[in-house]
Amino acid sequence: MEVIKLKLDVTEIELDALIPHQTKSNPDQETIEGQARRLLLDIKELVTPTLLYEFCQPCFDERGLVLTFDGKKLAFSPEDGLSDLKAADEVFVGLATIGPAIEEKIEIYNSRNELLVSYILSELSVAVMGQVIKKIKNLLLDIARQRGYGVSLVHIPGSTPGLPLSLQPLIVEGLNGRAYGITVNEHDIIKPFYSVTFMVGMGSNYARDELLPKCPGCSRKDSCAWRNK
Ligand code: SF4
Repeated sequence: MEVIKLKLDVTEIELDALIPHQTKSNPDQETIEGQARRLLLDIKELVTPTLLYEFCQPCFDERGLVLTFDGKKLAFSPEDGLSDLKAADEVFVGLATIGPAIEEKIEIYNSRNELLVSYILSELSVAVMGQVIKKIKNLLLDIARQRGYGVSLVHIPGSTPGLPLSLQPLIVEGLNGRAYGITVNEHDIIKPFYSVTFMVGMGSNYARDELLPKCPGCSRKDSCAWRNK
């Protein structure tokens, strides 16, 4: 299992995108922008963007897709919509997080009823996750190019149709997430909250050379970092 600390560049975060269109002509916009600029310092100090990943050899048997992590075999059942990975020479299994500190800060603002600050900080956290995802996409595509591979669609538990959130505990277990403070609750939600798990098939059987998720009809697709360059 590999761990990479990703570099964050807060100057790349577009504050303008955080402000809802209906408030753009509102005098409060200045205040929101000013607060966002100030909160970027919190972001810079508190987020620790990290990627845990493993390249696994895919093996399909009666249990479904069986992946081996450091000698530990985990079975992802056939109902989990992973048949697309049958064509893979290797499956990249990843878990990206920006760490727990920022959500703890958001909870503090919530407890003080400072809801605007909490809202801006959570939107900034989403923007940071977007930047992290873009970096991961570039990393993955570089690896695929170096190996002469194409890539599958990106499979994201809870987002990709047919991929339930219940895959997340398996991914966290396979990547030894607990050793990095990453846990999954009884609803299969990861803690830290600003985290994502995903799987991508790579191999000579795929013609695709760009990474896209398979989530038709998503209302956030125009701003989705998985979809956009
Ligand atoms: S399009 Fe993007 S934001 Fe929407 S569900 Fe898919 S991955 Fe998530």
